[in-house]
Parts: sequence; structure tokens; C-alpha cells
Amino acid sequence: MTTQVALITGASSGIGAEVARKLKSKGYIVYGAARRADRLAELEADGIRTFEMDVTDDASITAGVKGIIDETGRIDVLVNSAGYGLLGSVEETPVGDGRHMFEVNVFGAMRLTQLVVPYMREQRSGRIINVSSIGGKIYSPLTTYYNGSKHALEVMSDCLRLELGQFGIDVVVVEPGGVRTEWPKIAADHVEKNSGQGPYARQARGVAEGLRLSETGSRRYVPAAVVADGIVKAVTAKKPKTRYPVGYGAKAVIRLRWLLSDRAFDSLALRAARGSGA
Ligand code: NDP
Repeated sequence: MTTQVALITGASSGIGAEVARKLKSKGYIVYGAARRADRLAELEADGIRTFEMDVTDDASITAGVKGIIDETGRIDVLVNSAGYGLLGSVEETPVGDGRHMFEVNVFGAMRLTQLVVPYMREQRSGRIINVSSIGGKIYSPLTTYYNGSKHALEVMSDCLRLELGQFGIDVVVVEPGGVRTEWPKIAADHVEKNSGQGPYARQARGVAEGLRLSETGSRRYVPAAVVADGIVKAVTAKKPKTRYPVGYGAKAVIRLRWLLSDRAFDSLALRAARGSGA
């Protein structure tokens, strides 16, 4: 069988880096992409091919995919893991910041999809894994832009699955709960910067407190390897599920959203955002 070729975005850190290593160990030719060259150098040492790519920069995405095709002639797997959490109240967060996060979390994934699909369609096989979040299924205060981006990614993945299934291309969504990576710290920094001082300070403190638990070894945040295992399962399964909720409480929280009325879920989400100190 031809060696399968995988492109992983967000490979300089966290979930993407773990997925790149795990797929490499399974015999895939793996390309890892992100902006930070020094971090990518660490992956190169493990035999992963890397290139710098900013998913908001069309020239950089186009050149990256072209490079893979020039070298290998094919692409079998795309894992869209690049993403971050811009948290803060809508009142205080610049709309341009929200727009930029959508460029990374949503449009970057769509542009990459657009570029790899012609090759996958030609091969009549391929798999696109979009790393969403439980935030793509639920909601909470001060996460309007982030959860909005992940909700968008969820439904766009569903639409794509129906468009691409006819060509043998699977589209799969992975929904992590809390994961111990750089993500929670970056999100906590954002919520403190955007909303830590003004009228939303109390909620911001509660949200940041929950996120900072990731720095304490709390079991609410699973290691990136746990999510990477879920992604590898999605990549290698003969017939993948459409969704893989992974990590602490992910399945339960998503189920709760469906079981509870909006009012009841509102109370739960507000209580969670209150933290222990408020
Ligand atoms: P990390 O912060 O550890 O990794 C995020 C990755 O995204 C980095 O490699 C970063 O690379 C890359 N990235 C960010 N902006 C850009 C950009 N403009 N262009 C290219 N790459 C970019 O977080 P995780 O590994 O945890 O996050 C991976 C995915 O999982 C994200 O989509 C996140 O939303 C999702 N997720 C994470 C959860 C968590 O608790 N950690 C929970 C639920 C979902 P660089 O800065 O070098 O470009």
C-alpha cells in the first residue's frame, strides 16, 4: 500500500505536536505546520517534515500544500488543529480580534480543506479531521467569539461531510474538553486582559480561575496525548465516527446540553463561570 501522507496544523504545540508524533510512529509521512520555527525544529528531530505556515496567510497556506504535493504527489489526511481561545466580553473585546480568531479557527481550516480536496477527490479517498471543542456544542459567558468559532466549525464540518462523502472523503470532528496545553493559559491571559478590570471582572476571574487549573495538574485537564489518541483513532479507523468527544467530562457535558432546557443549562454555565472565589 502507498505510504499515507498527513498534514497537521498547529503542530508546534499541544495536540497537533502529539498527533504528528503518533502518526509518524504509525508509518505515515507527516508534515507538521505552524508559525514558530524553533518549535518545529523539535519535531524535525523526530523525523517529521515541517514548514512554517500562518493559517491566516493565503500565500503561506498555498505554498505549504504545494510543497507537500511536489514532494509526495498526494495527501491523505488533513488535521486542522491550529486554533486559540480569544475570551472576553463582547462589549470589551475588539471585534477585529474576534475576526482574527475566526480566520485561524474557521477560515484557515476551510482554506486548507479547499486546497487538499482536489487531490483527495482524485485519489477517491481522504480524511479531514477538524479539532473543535466541547465549546462547539455548549456555551458559557465570555466565550462568545471562541464558542461561536467552534460552533461554526461543527456545522461546517457537517455540511462538508455531505459534500465530500460522495468522493470517498471523510470529515470528522474531534471535541476535546480541557487539555493541558498552552491553550488554557493563552485563553486565561485573554479573558484577564479583555475583561479582568471592568464590569465583567467577576465572571472573568471565575473563568480564568477555571482555566488556570490546567497549570496545577488538575484532572479536569487531560494530557494532549489523550486527545491525540482520539485523533489517531479517527484517522486510522476503517469507518470513522462523525464525532469523537475526548477528555475529562467531554461526553457528559455535551449530553447534559441536550438533556437540559436552555434555562437549566444557563444556570449550570453561570455557576461554572463563577469559580470558587466569587
Ligand atoms: P496549543 O496552544 O498548545 O496549540 C495551538 C497551535 O495552534 C499551536 O501549534 C500554534 O502554533 C497554532 N496556531 C495558532 N495560531 C496560528 C496561526 N495563525 N497559524 C498557524 N498556526 C497557528 O493548543 P492545543 O493544542 O490545545 O489546541 C489545539 C486545538 O484544540 C485548537 O483548535 C483548540 O481550540 C482546540 N481545543 C483545545 C482545548 C484545550 O483545553 N487545550 C480544548 C478544546 C479544544 P504557532 O503559535 O507556532 O503558530
